[in-house]
Amino acid sequence: MSSLLPNALTGSSSSTLVADEIEKSNELYVTKRGAKIDLEEIGPKPTRKVALICCMDARIDAFSAFGFKEGEAHVIRNGGGRASDSIRSLVISQQQLETNEIIIMHHTDCGFFTFQESEFRQMLKTKGFPGPSVDEMSFMPMSSNDIDQNVKEDVEYLEKHPLISDQSKISGWVHDLKDGSIRRVV
Ligand SMILES: [Zn+2]
Repeated sequence: MSSLLPNALTGSSSSTLVADEIEKSNELYVTKRGAKIDLEEIGPKPTRKVALICCMDARIDAFSAFGFKEGEAHVIRNGGGRASDSIRSLVISQQQLETNEIIIMHHTDCGFFTFQESEFRQMLKTKGFPGPSVDEMSFMPMSSNDIDQNVKEDVEYLEKHPLISDQSKISGWVHDLKDGSIRRVV
C-alpha cells in the first residue's frame, strides 16, 4: 500500500489508486467550496425531510440531477437502487433524522437487469467463493424487464414494510440516463 504512495504523489504511475488521488481532489474541493458550512445551523436533519434511494451507477450525479444541495436530502445509494437494500438507512433517516418522504429512483440501462440470481450465484461458486455465503446473500437483480413494474414493486415493498412509517409519502420514478430526464411512475 505505502509503496504506491510515492508514485501517486508524482503522478507517474499507471497503476495509481484512486485512494492515492483523493487528497488532491479534495484540496480543490475545499478551495472551491469556500466559506465553511455552519454545521450547527444546518444540522444533520435533511432540511427537505426527504430520503431518495437510487442506484450506485457511476453515471448518476444524484445531487445535480435531482436538485439537492448539501444538508437537504438523504441520498441512499445501492446496486439497483433497491428498496429492500435501504431499510436500515431509511429507518434511521425517518426515526432519528425526521424525514417523512421517500423517493425511489430507478434508471434506464441498469446493470441489475442483466443477470439472473441463480446464474450469478453459480458464477461466484465457480470462482471459489463459499457456497453457503453465496446462497444466503440476495443480490437483488430486477424481477422484471418492465422498469415501471420494478419501481411499483419497490414502492409497494416500502408501503408494506413494518419498520417504515405508515405516514411516509412515497413516490417512484424512472431516471433516463440518455437525456437525464425523470418520469414519475407512482
Ligand atoms: Zn443501476
